[in-house]
Amino acid sequence: MREVAYLAAADADSAIAALSAYENAMLLAGGTNVVDYLRAGVISPSVLIDISAVPLTGIHAGEAGFTIGGLARMSDVAAHPGMRACFPVVSQALELSASAQLRNMATIGGNLMQRTRCGYFREPGFACNKRIPGSGCAARDGLNRPHAVLGGSRHCVATHPSDLAVALAALDATLQLQGPAGIRQVAVTDFYRLPGDTPQLENELQPAEMIVQISAAGTPGAPGSHYLKVRERASYEFAVVSVAAVVHAPGGIIEAARIAFGGVATVPWRDHDAEQALAGITAADSAALRSAVEAALAGAEPLTHNGFKVEMGRRALVRAVQLAAGTR
Ligand code: SF4
Repeated sequence: MREVAYLAAADADSAIAALSAYENAMLLAGGTNVVDYLRAGVISPSVLIDISAVPLTGIHAGEAGFTIGGLARMSDVAAHPGMRACFPVVSQALELSASAQLRNMATIGGNLMQRTRCGYFREPGFACNKRIPGSGCAARDGLNRPHAVLGGSRHCVATHPSDLAVALAALDATLQLQGPAGIRQVAVTDFYRLPGDTPQLENELQPAEMIVQISAAGTPGAPGSHYLKVRERASYEFAVVSVAAVVHAPGGIIEAARIAFGGVATVPWRDHDAEQALAGITAADSAALRSAVEAALAGAEPLTHNGFKVEMGRRALVRAVQLAAGTR
């Protein structure tokens, strides 16, 4: 058994001070991921800093935009009336994540910081560059059906697991990060790092920083936005493929679309090629939509067992766009 020290922080400043003071310290919020990884032997912090009582739980959502505290619970954000009315893609992404019990415990910041569900990452007996840099990647020539077809490298092909991050990427949301040097803003689409040759570095969070707020501005199409998730079973399962679609289609003609994919890439995958191809299409014209989405997932490099994700992603995109445009 390994000993882990525990301390509780009352506010963000004390949490950041503690993160700076202790080597190998880690934040603990809802505990739904960190405790899992501790048990699996994937992480070994020397100190856990409990931030569950830090008052960063506010939720404000309306036509003009939303702000969410980093420690708001997933279930509270999903059920917020303003979020449901003005940004349903967020509520849907959250409600299609995990289980009701987990959503009641897990925080928004923790959801965005969760690590991959690559089975090899969670099994210390296998080579994994993300867990032990330089040890190899068991997935590349192993069971790679759930892995990425976009954004991978020879060092790692693990998919990013957060549904919420995909919805936020489509909404051009921003993260507010607080650390020893103060507060800074980072776009969700810039926050996650491609694995390259350092797959252990997953995001732009600097030492002793934490996510304190998530925000996005209102945009045409957001009130009809849709999150479509394809998974192996109907609940408590990660995406094989998912699509967040924010579509502005006055008079049935798509004027602008914001599209992000989950389950297919190493980061939440914003697809600007698909967005451009969809502009000007009649949303009710299935054949035209199908033709337009051939531009989606450009550059995909399937592994041995996951080539099906490209076609599945395009089909999911057609349906998500139709649902977001109100033509299904
Ligand atoms: Fe590890 Fe990434 Fe390879 Fe999975 S895909 S075994 S997380 S290096």
